[in-house]
Amino acid sequence: MAWDDTASKIWMNGNIVDWEDAKIHALSHVVHYGTSVFEGIRAYDNEKGPCVFRLEEHIERLFDSAKIYKIDMPYTEEEVCDATIEILKENGLKSCYIRPIAFRGYGELGVNPLNCPVDVLIGAWEWGSYLGEEGMNIGVDVGVSSWRKPAPDTLPVMAKAAANYMNSQLAKLEAIEHGYAEAIMLDYQGFVAEGSGENIFVVEDDVIYTPSLGSSILRGITRDSIMELAKSLGYKVVEETIGRERLYLADEIFFSGTAAEVTPIKSVDGRSIGIGKRGPVTEELQKTFFEIVEAKKDDEFGWLKYF
Ligand code: PMP
Repeated sequence: MAWDDTASKIWMNGNIVDWEDAKIHALSHVVHYGTSVFEGIRAYDNEKGPCVFRLEEHIERLFDSAKIYKIDMPYTEEEVCDATIEILKENGLKSCYIRPIAFRGYGELGVNPLNCPVDVLIGAWEWGSYLGEEGMNIGVDVGVSSWRKPAPDTLPVMAKAAANYMNSQLAKLEAIEHGYAEAIMLDYQGFVAEGSGENIFVVEDDVIYTPSLGSSILRGITRDSIMELAKSLGYKVVEETIGRERLYLADEIFFSGTAAEVTPIKSVDGRSIGIGKRGPVTEELQKTFFEIVEAKKDDEFGWLKYF
């Protein structure tokens, strides 16, 4: 992550500001109560030019997250999409990670958020693979976390809200302590949910399974893309509740996400999965996914927005 990126600009409440000037007051509501919703989006640079992956869907999810928390967005979805492209152009960024965020700013400090303004910010920076190059090719070692996803009547996971990531952080910290690249979290009932920042897929006899929306998962945009892609390649895709032991017995498992893209999992809780490295179904999906974003294959689903 390029945190010395002081030459870069950030889009903040309609203005383009210097990296160092994208500041908020320490008594802002978001600092104390985690009142923010955000997105993570990737832009790719291929031979047709730079492009953003499923920009409209990400911004739509941002607005959906905001709606859940009654965060009234002071811009339209189209304006936020345009602002995203503007900040990429302003920074001359091509292949990068984009972080739009809407949060309750400085107003009044109490649990009630309604008297605090809604601030919107978009930052972007260059970024490589999240779980490492080796992880992409061979697979990563993961463990099931003792921390579970929140029950549906506690924190709504369909909102990509900052506060949810306190829960994710506990799982991630535990994974690091145990020497794993990532954690798999179970839902409130004990079924497989997702990674700390990724959705999960399980392959059994060439059928592709993924936890359903009822298992306290984020409705991942990469998850949706992989499901579409897998179906177009002739695979059967099933969304259902998945017990933990199915992970151990699966032929293949992989993560999907904006940051993780398609990352194979080679072991869970010290049990080798399938052939002990990236399996053929994961490889085919990963390869096809990258062929699309690298414009080596037709963008038949209309995922890429060139700018
Ligand atoms: N689950 C969680 C908890 C996440 O943070 C993410 C990353 N946004 C995902 C799943 C994957 O979602 P997407 O494919 O939209 O990035």
